[in-house]
Amino acid sequence: MSATWPPHLGKKLDYPEVAVGAIVAGSARRFGDRVAFRHHGEELTYAQLWREACQFANGLVSRGVKPGDRVALRMSNCLPFPVAYYGLLLAGATFVPVNPLMPEPVVAAQLQDAGAALTVQASDVAEIRADQPDTPPDVQIDIYQDLAHLAYTGGTTGRSKGVRLPHRNVVVNSLQFACWQSGSVPALDGEGGLIIDQISDPAEYRNRVGTGQAINLTPWFHAMGTIGGLNVLILGGVTATLHDRFDPVAYLADAEKYKINYMGGAPALFAGLLACPDIKTRDLSAVSSIGSGAAPMPHEMTIALQRIMPDAVIVEGYGLTEVTMGAAAAPPWVSGVRKVGTVGVPVFDTEIKLVPVEGGSEAVPVGEPGEVCIRGPQVMLGYHNRPEETAEVLVDGWLHTGDIGVFDEDGYLSIVDRKKDMLIYKGYNVYPRELEELLIAHPAVAMAAVVGRKDAEVGELPVAFIVPAKPDVQAEQVMADINEQVVPYKRLREVVVTDQIPISPAGKILKRELRARLT
Ligand code: AMP
Repeated sequence: MSATWPPHLGKKLDYPEVAVGAIVAGSARRFGDRVAFRHHGEELTYAQLWREACQFANGLVSRGVKPGDRVALRMSNCLPFPVAYYGLLLAGATFVPVNPLMPEPVVAAQLQDAGAALTVQASDVAEIRADQPDTPPDVQIDIYQDLAHLAYTGGTTGRSKGVRLPHRNVVVNSLQFACWQSGSVPALDGEGGLIIDQISDPAEYRNRVGTGQAINLTPWFHAMGTIGGLNVLILGGVTATLHDRFDPVAYLADAEKYKINYMGGAPALFAGLLACPDIKTRDLSAVSSIGSGAAPMPHEMTIALQRIMPDAVIVEGYGLTEVTMGAAAAPPWVSGVRKVGTVGVPVFDTEIKLVPVEGGSEAVPVGEPGEVCIRGPQVMLGYHNRPEETAEVLVDGWLHTGDIGVFDEDGYLSIVDRKKDMLIYKGYNVYPRELEELLIAHPAVAMAAVVGRKDAEVGELPVAFIVPAKPDVQAEQVMADINEQVVPYKRLREVVVTDQIPISPAGKILKRELRARLT
């Protein structure tokens, strides 16, 4: 890879000053009758999406929804979702994503925290937009201050917090990824719609996300879904086949049927696909691009996927709700250097520095682990109604992520683990992910997670939960095999065989639940 290719690498992108609605306006004009989404045999074209979103916006206005009001969407991925999402944004309201699988009291607490004026379910959408005009209402939006999303963090380690993301963040982060993945720059069409213009030779971008066929499972109530699985796809003019629950047989059948080019999701999706025998018999030769994020992709998994789909470029991205979605990704161009096990390099206009885990703001040297801090236009304004928690993580414009990373000499970032998941054994730092990587590479193990058991004498003892890959797996043997490969202070003290590792809908291992099993 030449240091000057592609031409916009290392440069600032020129982000038009538009609200999120400009994404769907630009794409509707450009891609018109192309199908944007299909689900259970029904289709929605780009032009229909725009018209219905405008109707929905007017429907909200007629019901008294005012700019700045919070509108919660409580639905799984389905055709009414993008209509309601873009519609409420066109009305100047703020999107509050709600995981429809969450128990009622959790939903109620979130809606109350957000101050939601209205909660919309999929079945409400047609009624709200009925007989409404299909041109957008006239509302004023301050793109730097008015919130597009009030997004709730997964809450895998503590209480879920509302993340304040104005329109500017959503537009910028969508462009950072859409342009990264397609070799494009942002532009405006003649009527203020946002588009991306190709500047690099598309052939150079094997994993180009644009004007192709995608399959989508990533929930839109999560950052990776709303930005990566919705706005980025819309900017690219992609046709996305929606799956609202994970059925690997149906997923792989659709991947063959629609000649899917792009698959994206959390590693748990790929683990499920790899465990399904159909992955060996379905024709997946059209898959040119695989995107993974939200949780670490085990090296072994990357290699297994590459073996099955040798022509696909596998790109791991890294981010968190607090940066709208993403901050780093593997460079997707063909001649670019890709490194398995890394999350690539910072995307456009994004700085990442690693500071000592114990505290301090001086960057640690290359090769040494430090807390990942991110600065860039996609960083949140702060948490909703939580000034103290905001002040803890946003320091001098840098977001302290709580993740521990390492840079290599080429500037590629690897995520070592989360600070909260790190174990301390006799004063030594033990990163569970290192043990998990070894476990997953073991032939007897299908899936693994390592947590600490509190111990008064030594601090914490590493305990592994494993899902066996075959019957009659001997936990003692697995433990001995792993312990042979690590220095003594990192050794596993216990291996627990289990049927399932708990995973959140966004694809994260719920370590809190595993720790609870140890008490
Ligand atoms: P969320 O805000 O729900 O998106 O969760 C963000 C967290 O997911 C980050 O702070 C990381 O701990 C984790 N995460 C996201 N992407 C990756 C990745 N590629 N590798 C490792 N961890 C990741």
